[in-house]
Formats: sequence, C-alpha cells, structure tokens
Amino acid sequence: MTQPSSNHWLKDVARHAGLDLDLPRRPPITAIRSVWPEVAKACRLSDDHFTQRVAGHFRIGVANVAAYDPQAVRMIPEAVARRYGILPLSSAADTLVIATSDPTNRGAHKEIVAHSARQPVFMLASPAAISMALERAYAPARAPKNALRTLVARVAESDFQVVTNQGKGLFTSFELEDPAVVKLADVILQQGVRYRATEIHIEPGAQQGRVRYRIDGVLQHVVDLPPTAHNRLVARLRHLAFERPDHNPDDGFLIEAGGETSKTAHLLTTPTPDGELVSIRLVDPNDVPSLDGLGFDGPEDRKIRQVLGRSEGLVLVTGPARSGTTSFIYAALSALKNQSVISLEGRPETVVPGVTQIRYDPMTGISFAETLQQLLDRSPDVIHAGEIRDLPTARIALRTAVTGRKVLATVHTSDAVSGIRRLIDMGLAPGRLGESLHAVVSLRLVRRLCTECARPFDGERDAKSREAKLASVLGIAPVSRAVGCKGCAGTGYRGQVPIPEVLVVTPEMKALLGHSPNDMELQRAAQADGMRSFAEVGLDRVQKGDTTVEEIERVLGIVPTRDETADSVGPVLVVEDEAEDMALMSGVLRSIGFEVVEARDGHAAAELLEHGDEAFSFILMDLYMPGMNGKELLRSVRQSLATQSLPVIVLTASANPRDELEVLEAGADDFLLKPVMADRLEARVRAVLRRSGVRLAK
Ligand SMILES: [Zn+2]
Repeated sequence: MTQPSSNHWLKDVARHAGLDLDLPRRPPITAIRSVWPEVAKACRLSDDHFTQRVAGHFRIGVANVAAYDPQAVRMIPEAVARRYGILPLSSAADTLVIATSDPTNRGAHKEIVAHSARQPVFMLASPAAISMALERAYAPARAPKNALRTLVARVAESDFQVVTNQGKGLFTSFELEDPAVVKLADVILQQGVRYRATEIHIEPGAQQGRVRYRIDGVLQHVVDLPPTAHNRLVARLRHLAFERPDHNPDDGFLIEAGGETSKTAHLLTTPTPDGELVSIRLVDPNDVPSLDGLGFDGPEDRKIRQVLGRSEGLVLVTGPARSGTTSFIYAALSALKNQSVISLEGRPETVVPGVTQIRYDPMTGISFAETLQQLLDRSPDVIHAGEIRDLPTARIALRTAVTGRKVLATVHTSDAVSGIRRLIDMGLAPGRLGESLHAVVSLRLVRRLCTECARPFDGERDAKSREAKLASVLGIAPVSRAVGCKGCAGTGYRGQVPIPEVLVVTPEMKALLGHSPNDMELQRAAQADGMRSFAEVGLDRVQKGDTTVEEIERVLGIVPTRDETADSVGPVLVVEDEAEDMALMSGVLRSIGFEVVEARDGHAAAELLEHGDEAFSFILMDLYMPGMNGKELLRSVRQSLATQSLPVIVLTASANPRDELEVLEAGADDFLLKPVMADRLEARVRAVLRRSGVRLAK
C-alpha cells in the first residue's frame, strides 16, 4: 500500500489514490480525523473497508470499539485518550490493547507506557468510531451530558435549511426560535453556571466542533458539536448577546440558572476557517473578591496584609493570564475602600463598592499615562494604575508612590524578580525603583481538592500513581488524592488556592537595587529576606491537604522528572537560525560549564528531543525561525510527557508584550529580549534552572 517514505503513511495512501494531502509528518489526531473520510472516499472504500485495508497494511487486527473493558479505560486518562484518539480495550499483566487510527504515533505509545506501565498492543479503528466510543467509555463521570448529546443531535438533524456564507449562517427568526436550538443554548449556558465555569468555549471543527467549560482554570470537554449544530448554536448565542432590541451588547446578558444562581455572560466571537469560535465569559459583577475569600495562608497572608496596610509605595502584582491577579487587585481595592480609591482599567469586570472605577477607552486618543495623570489631580489615597505597558505609565506610578500615596499596578511576568526586571527593562533606573517600590506579589492558582470526594493517599493502592512518582522525586509524602464527584463536575477539584511569591523591598533590597543587580542577586536577596518560592508555598499547601503534587506540577512545572538522582547537568539545546546569535549563546553557555547541542530550526530540535538520547538540562530557543517556529516547538515540548517539565527560555527580537504573554502562557519559563547580552543570559539561565530544581555545579 505504501513505499518507505518520510511522509506520514496516510499521506502516501492518499497519494496512491490520487489525492495530495497537506498533512504534517507527525499529524495530530485532529488532522487525521479530518482527512480520513476524504482518503477513504478517494480510495473508493467505505469507512469499514478502508479501516480493514489500513489494518491489513499494518498487520494488526480491526478493533471492536464497542467492547471495551472499563478497567482498561481507567488506565488512560480521558485527556490523553482524546489527545491521541485512542481507546483502551482490554488489559493484561504487561500489555494494554488499544484502538487507534494511527499506530505510528510515538507520542501515544509513550503516554500509554507512562500511564499504564504496560506495552500497547494496537488494533485499528476509524477516528469517527473511536471518537464515538470515547464518549461512551468516559461518559459515566459526566452523566448529565447524555441529555446534552441528545439535544445536539436534535439540533443537528432539524430539517430547516441553513444557508452558510463563509462560516456565518444566514438564519431566519423562525430558525433562531426553533425549540431545539433554544433549549440547547439554554442548557449549555445554565449548566455552565451550575458547574461554576468562568468561560464557555464553543469551538468549530471541520468534522466535529466541541463545547468546553473552563472550571477552576482548566478547560473541560462537555459535548461534541457537528458543524450544523455549531452554526445553529452560534447564531442563537449571537442573537442572545447582540441582536435583541433595547439591549446594549456591552452589558452582556443574564443567565438564570435556577435558585439564587445567575451570571452575566459576555460573548466574544473570532472567525476561523472552520466557522466561528465563540468564547463566553461568565461573571458575577456583584461578587467582589475579598482577601479572606481568596484563601491565602501562612507567612504570605501576613505579608500581603502588612503590605496593603502601609499607606504609600508601589505594590506590583505579577502573573501570567488567569493566575488570579485580577481577583487579587479587586480584593485589595475592596480592603482599602475606606480611603479614597481610584481604579483605571481597560474594562472593569467587577463593581467594587466604595471604589471609583474609571474605564480607559483608547478610542479617545488620550494615552493611558495621560489619563492616569489627570486622575491624580483628584488626589486619591490609593490608585490602581492597571497594567504597566510603557515607560510613561511606569514613571507616573513611581512618582506617585513616593508622594505619600499607595499605587497598585500589574505587569505580566512569571515571577516577582522578573516583575522588577520588567520595569528596569522598560527604562526605569533601578535606584529610583528601589525608592518607590514597596512589594511585588506574584501569583499562580492551583485547584483546591474537592472536600466532598478527596481521599487520603493510600501507599499500597496508589504506589504506581503519578502523584506518588512526583512526590518521590520531590522527597515529600503525598497526602490526598483527587477523585471526582457530582459536586465537582467529576474533576476532583472545587475552587482554587492562590500560590503567592511575596517580595518585600527591605532596606537591604533597596541598597542592592542601587547597584543595578542581576536577576540572580535579586532572587538571592529576596530569599534571604524570607521570600518563599512558588514551589515551597505550593508544596506546603500539598502537605496541608489543600491540593495535590500533580496540580502543583501542572501549574508550576517544577518537578525535574528526567534524571532524578544525577548531580551532573545535561547539555543545553540551543535552537537558533541565525549563526551569529548561535555562536554568542553557545559561547556564553560553554563558559559557564555547559555542553551545547545546536539545532538550526524547530524541526531539527523536535527531532533531537524525540529521538536523541541526550537528557537536556534546558532549551534556549528563538521565537521566530523559518519552518517550525518557537511557539510551535514550545507547544510540542509541553505536550510530551518526556519533555513537559524541561525548562525553556525563549528569545525574542521584538518587545511585543503579546508575544511574551503568549510564550509564558504556552509554558516558557522565561524569555529574553534580543540582542542577547552575555551577563543577562547567564543570570536568566541560572534563575530558571534554580526555579526548576536543576543543580548547577558552578
Ligand atoms: Zn468532588
């Protein structure tokens, strides 16, 4: 059927049938799922016959996906099964029989071994068959969704005609009021509120779209959505959000979920080639976060309250998106509301009683910094200066903070020290910063174990769990395990726990800032002053039974899982297409004692990571490269179990804050602006390695 080739086998099969597919060499299951019917059609075979043909080619059996053993299903987490489009069918002592549409996927192979400690025995099934079987196999935890699937099917099969025009449906009002569509939209919205979702995503797909809820910060699959149902649902939602008379779309629309529960929904739509991507933010504008409610504890709780209690100085709040910075700011403003408080924001999400909240509108043509300056004429005691994006705003914030006022502001950086570094990189003199900066609070959020269903860790029963493995790497005793019940939507977690890093500027720190310190010196001084790292605070919460090591690992990625005992450090993988930069970086790294492996682009790096036998200590990668760029490489690094905790520093030539936010969100540990300065590079490398628990000899 195929000749040996560097292409993916499905591409070769398609070519034999006269079809030229645009398929990457290692396609994700979504790509295979979307081209599979096309290739079967080009081969003039039914789905069943095509499946048999492919199975014959690989000399493996055809799977009966209806006959799966729930015991086997439990060995592979649902997220992994969905990511690779695989279904566990049965298990033996050393093997796990797995239905797959792509027996050549090495990533799937690795994850199966990692999760089940068994070798996979693959059998073939079509992507559509596996997709349907997955719904049933993993359904028991999500029983209420069966009703939703029935509704989706009704909407998809309604016989009114939908005329599509470049992904946008043209609908008559009759269609928008079709009882099935109305019911589907209502159920998705109300169930989202009941499950405490903060976002609902309605995602299109060529063959199959889906609905997902973000619950406690993590996206959870709710139901698959065929394109017809997707178009109709989106039209209905747009109608609810934008198209009703006497309604201002900016205000959002109210969702009543029965009883006392209601939320306001804000709809955002983005066109994609497969249709419209809709994300709905669910907020309760009257639910003002409080410091008590956020759940800080220990020394950080005391420090935060002391910091907020002081009447002047700049308090910088840092963290990537969805790390709790917004809630923290609102809680802080609310705690200070007895003074005169002004807040300048892009779009206030919550109404904080007692606080004057001003919405900044860039359309006025007045800059953020100018608007801020004008507000200072009202002489507030406390001002929230929003996100500091430019030097003028930073300067005003500093100036205000030394004149007897308290200033709260955010920057999007990964930790406390990089928050200080960001302001210095913007052009502030470190000495001046030391005069005004009072503290940096950096935040992460992990999920809180559901108190209804969490159970104590059982040394015997849980010996092979990931929780046990991660805890042993860290040398701590696991305490509790997540289970999942109706109250927590089957996730095992309910609510979130803040993990703060609190850096307070002491006289010693102020003196140090006067000497333009590097990041490592700052980090060391902060820790000497008692700042606990994210990892220390997080593992403390594990020991208190509030969360799990798995959760800490998911958010912080701190656990070095590769070589757990070696004191020696592996080589660095440097990915860079420009020879000059490559030479500079390799030189610096070699001078501090690293071996360096060079890759000229993302593909070469991915190849080394997947097939090389080097245990790298970290990756230094350029963001913009021809072929596979840094973002794609980063994504693939974070998706593979073998490399997901490998530290990554990204280099970027532009000072575009969006890029930086994106790479931090995608899992980079830090980033560095070009041109690369040798001392800066060295400091970042050391800081990232220390945060990641990699020991450096010198
Ligand atoms: Zn629960």
